[in-house]
Amino acid sequence: MNTERKHVVVVGTNFAGYTAAIELKEMLGNHHDITVISPTHKFLFYPSLIWFPFGIRDEKDITFDVRPIYQSHDIKFIEAPATHFDLENHKVFLAQGDPVEYDYLVIATGFAVDYDYVPGLREHAHSIIGIKQATRTREAWQKFLQNPGPAAVVSVQGTGCFGASYEILFNTRYQLAKHHLKEKSPLTYISSEPYPAHFGIGGFGNAQKMCEMLFKFYHIDSRFNVSVKEFLPDGILLDTGEKIPSVFTVAIPRFLGAECVRNTPGLGNAMGFIEVGNDYRHPKYHEVYVVGAAVDVKLPEHTDKPCGVPKTGYPSEQMAKIAAKNIVADIKKLPKRYELPFAEINALCIMDTGNMGMMIVGDHMLTPREHEFIIPGPEAHWAKVAFEKYFMFTRKHAIV
Ligand SMILES: Cc1cc2nc3c(=O)[nH]c(=O)nc-3n(C[C@H](O)[C@H](O)[C@H](O)COP(=O)(O)OP(=O)(O)OC[C@H]3O[C@@H](n4cnc5c(N)ncnc54)[C@H](O)[C@@H]3O)c2cc1C
Repeated sequence: MNTERKHVVVVGTNFAGYTAAIELKEMLGNHHDITVISPTHKFLFYPSLIWFPFGIRDEKDITFDVRPIYQSHDIKFIEAPATHFDLENHKVFLAQGDPVEYDYLVIATGFAVDYDYVPGLREHAHSIIGIKQATRTREAWQKFLQNPGPAAVVSVQGTGCFGASYEILFNTRYQLAKHHLKEKSPLTYISSEPYPAHFGIGGFGNAQKMCEMLFKFYHIDSRFNVSVKEFLPDGILLDTGEKIPSVFTVAIPRFLGAECVRNTPGLGNAMGFIEVGNDYRHPKYHEVYVVGAAVDVKLPEHTDKPCGVPKTGYPSEQMAKIAAKNIVADIKKLPKRYELPFAEINALCIMDTGNMGMMIVGDHMLTPREHEFIIPGPEAHWAKVAFEKYFMFTRKHAIV
């Protein structure tokens, strides 16, 4: 066994980065060094942001400080954004401080939101992607309640986060009903998906039928297979020329890879996502692993309007576990490699609709699947609430 001390650097500390750091520590013990780099010390549980605009969750409920956990695990933490990587010389450059050298690098920098992709998106649509953005959306919702009108939720062309779009749509519907605004505030869903519940993955079980039923039951109007030309103060202009009226618009924009990836020539594709093998290792730089939303996942099928693949929390953590095992195998010069293609990771998701929901369970993220179940009902809402509590408790205790 090789006992030379190695330095593993993990960049990013949310679903993928946090899991990778804790897994690596558990497997490597104190024989090697682990450093985590991130611009924030807060872990953010994105799935609960769908409740944030309505005051159902606050920052303290859905974030935790990673610093005491890293400290107790003897993992070094540097709170600074990486600006770029020198892949030939094994260095991570930071916005402040000296570059950090590595023997192995895990890139878990997730996604950046492309608010400039469509005119008016930044000014006239609201976002739930981050605490700051969701706080502004909460303020806009309060104003909207004083002066209600039509509302819309938009899955912008190129996005891959359709689950969040449906959840904020159905939660907005639920809140409108609670505030007796069903008549005053017609709700429209606009999406680049070719049909309801396509999700960027060609659909899932009978989700399309169920979504269509819910749209009809709740009187939600919809436009599918469309792109947005412009967001306006009082509506959304589509590529068909139609203008959908809305005075409260929530948009899920398309994602790019993190800026530090886009700043590093030869690392990612034009969008800033990084191609890897089924072992999550970079094909050229073998000491570099990439996990989570930073990974480039090819679309399983062509769509007329651009759609992205949802790289959700569970697969992000699974990728991190595979990468961690392979780094340990590399360090210990073990012959075994671990592989788990993205398409074959289990599909496990809960889509909340306010007081109900759907549990989405399948053996594979992408088709072909042998098993795919949609379990609708009020228990799905409570399952999401319970999962949030379970997730926050376990992760705060370094159980990944
Ligand atoms: C509103 C919303 C709702 C969602 N709901 C669900 C859901 O219900 N279920 C589900 O499974 N998934 C859901 N997702 C998707 C889920 O959040 C992502 O799959 C997950 O966040 C990906 O994890 P990640 O660690 O790869 O990336 P991220 O969570 O984006 O983490 C990236 C990390 O990298 C750090 N970082 C970024 N840039 C730099 C830099 N330059 N230098 C150093 N560090 C950097 C960030 O600070 C962060 O710590 C949702 C997403 C959104 C936006």
